[in-house]
Amino acid sequence: MLNSLFYSRLYEWYEINHRVLPWRETDDPYRIWLSEVILQQTRVAQGLEYYLRFVDRWPTVEALAAADEAEVLREWQGLGYYSRARNLHKAAIQIVESLKLKVERSGELKVESIFPNTFEDLRALPGVGDYTAGAIASFAYNAPYPAVDGNVYRVVARLLDIDEAFDTTAGKKLFHKHIDSLLDREHARVFNSAIMELGALQCTPVLGDNCAVCPIREFCQGCANGTASLLPVRKPRPKVRDRWFTYHIYLQSPISNLQSPIFTLIHKREEKDIWYHLYEFPCEEHPSPVTGNPSPFTFTHVLSHQRIHARFIVHRVQKMPDLAGTIVIRWDDLNDYALSRLTLRALDTLRHKA
Ligand code: SF4
Repeated sequence: MLNSLFYSRLYEWYEINHRVLPWRETDDPYRIWLSEVILQQTRVAQGLEYYLRFVDRWPTVEALAAADEAEVLREWQGLGYYSRARNLHKAAIQIVESLKLKVERSGELKVESIFPNTFEDLRALPGVGDYTAGAIASFAYNAPYPAVDGNVYRVVARLLDIDEAFDTTAGKKLFHKHIDSLLDREHARVFNSAIMELGALQCTPVLGDNCAVCPIREFCQGCANGTASLLPVRKPRPKVRDRWFTYHIYLQSPISNLQSPIFTLIHKREEKDIWYHLYEFPCEEHPSPVTGNPSPFTFTHVLSHQRIHARFIVHRVQKMPDLAGTIVIRWDDLNDYALSRLTLRALDTLRHKA
């Protein structure tokens, strides 16, 4: 640990400057878990909207467990990284099932804690890694575990002037050793919150003049050595993979009004691939760019490690083709299905063209 002045400066700054967010105002582990899963790869402003909707619709873990996966995916629509939503739902079911087992074994009608309350039990939930388990353990139970997200890596790399990449196995180990020794074990809740918030608001990726007004400046080695703006170091990014998709949008309309479709055809992605269990228009994948047969609209859709070159072909038909794995649905019911973001973009374009 650093000396006590470091911690008092940090906590004082946090007390005055932190953003007031609903998941900070509660020690309910369910709500904290929900916020942590939603906020992965998501901006706070966008995540807040989803968090409020989820909490409103499923205020408890039991309520979430009782929902259909399709409903959860639909509510998640637009956030991307759908495996987070699937794991969230799976974990809720697991928590409720294990509660039932506990009740059966103990013979009592009420068991003290429905939500897992140790780091190990939290870590065993689907989709919960070290970061999320540490965040729930410390924020809900003040248990002495660090919660290390990108903000924390950045602050610690600069504070201790560490020029090792934080996202390699060796780098992670090194950072965790340092973070473990910095952790204020008796006040893990406020320590983790403060250091994360410092990374989000003060020790930002582009530093500008922030160091001049930083509460922990006199302890910061990166600032003293003039290396802060070069840190943290990352390993080289993996190559982005290009993929080429053609989507077929079948629209069945009455002859009297060809511009108003009544039915369309969609399918559910079942392969373990992007957009697993989401719906989209029938799709074919090509090994290389498609030439000829121009499409009325095309998109390049960028995911974390893939670049999807998608073209859409509209077929106006009187009778739907019989395509394996597809279902015919009413055009107006499309919004009842969890659709990939790319499909939503295509729909937007299509509706504006109509
Ligand atoms: S002094 Fe600058 S680099 Fe160091 S923690 Fe503060 S903002 Fe970050």
